Amino acid sequence: MASHDLVLHGGRVIDGTGVAAVGADVAIDGDRITAVERLPRGSGRREIDAAGLVVAPGFIDVHTHDDRALFVSSDMSAKVSQGVTTVVTGNCGISLAPLTLDRPPPPPLDLIGDERDYGFARFADYLGALDAHPPALNAACLVGHSSLRVGCMRALDRPASEPEIEAMRARLAEALEAGAVGLSTGLWYAPANAAPKSEIVALAELLRPAGAVYTTHMRDEAEHVLDSLEESFAVGREAGVPVVISHHKVIGKANFGRTRETLPRLRQAVAEQRIGLDAYPYVASSTVLRAFMVPRALKVLVTWSKTCPEMAGRYLSEIAAEWKVSEAEACERLQPAGAVYWTMDEADVRRVLVGRAAARPASASATVGHVSARARTLLPRGRAVPARGSRPAHDRPSRPALRADQPWPHRARRLCRCLRVRSGKSDRPRHLRAADHARRRHR
Ligand SMILES: [Zn+2]
Repeated sequence: MASHDLVLHGGRVIDGTGVAAVGADVAIDGDRITAVERLPRGSGRREIDAAGLVVAPGFIDVHTHDDRALFVSSDMSAKVSQGVTTVVTGNCGISLAPLTLDRPPPPPLDLIGDERDYGFARFADYLGALDAHPPALNAACLVGHSSLRVGCMRALDRPASEPEIEAMRARLAEALEAGAVGLSTGLWYAPANAAPKSEIVALAELLRPAGAVYTTHMRDEAEHVLDSLEESFAVGREAGVPVVISHHKVIGKANFGRTRETLPRLRQAVAEQRIGLDAYPYVASSTVLRAFMVPRALKVLVTWSKTCPEMAGRYLSEIAAEWKVSEAEACERLQPAGAVYWTMDEADVRRVLVGRAAARPASASATVGHVSARARTLLPRGRAVPARGSRPAHDRPSRPALRADQPWPHRARRLCRCLRVRSGKSDRPRHLRAADHARRRHR
């Protein structure tokens, strides 16, 4: 007799704890997994034949800039279609909240939106807008240090003053209270580059009582990558918080092979404090177009340009040749712009992905479907890469039991339990209406 709402029959279950795949049926009642065992046919009111398929917890994409995408494409098909059911937003120091702007955001804040999108004075307003227009997956939201700086400082090319630090602390405290899962920095980027370690520690101190994490796009991933690792570890120690090194990589032709230095140092640090990392699955990375990055890259693809949109999709070298100018000059003319840089060594990328077992990174980042495809060739069979959670290694029980009654993931806000898309009536895109609404409330 049918005793469960839904039963997935005959799949290979990979539960995300690292144990080998097992053949089992999975029963679901309401929004909970209630059994992982052999179940007779007919035990579910609805049954799905999963023979030949893998049944796994939804993947967690731990490194995203989906802050705005959650509103714009609330079906989140780009992620859901790849098995991603939770995204971590607000990485690299950039979060849509808490910040309101009446001028264009400085790079790299312009990667996720323009001044109309930055309309949430409080983090609670942003989360409230998500609750009002829930996307089709869970979101765990970080607060960006650069967004705090842009909102609280008159000039960004210097350390924050005491009153500015206090203003940032107040905003961060509000965000943590509202449900933010941590603080991210993007110390490599101009808005945060002048921030000394002491400024970061003064903010990160607030994370510990909230049980939140510190994630960082480090100050340098090239010549000074080891110094940057030390700085990141020190923030974790001084503030007493777990650290996640974002998209760990070593960039620049001169630094190819240096994961042979960074991974042993990470392994050593992991034994002493709570550290995780996520990893790049590609040899190229995407961000804003910056002239000083160009000599480090094997090639540079322009992805967008506000001044010359027709150049999107073309190589910088071609554009410079066509304009009969240097690549540096072409960079200048294209601003503001974005680019993909081929700056990594394939052997380094493989070393980081394979070395995850020792360094215990939180997960692989970027497009998870692609990660999975690569992981198949790089990782032991029967192991799923993502879905292990955004918690750093030390925070995780070594073999957590699959508990049917536990919501997954732990600290992610449950924004929506199923694929549910609401259609907007107004011509104005929904995320802008949400920002307008938040603005009105604070006027
Ligand atoms: Zn980054």
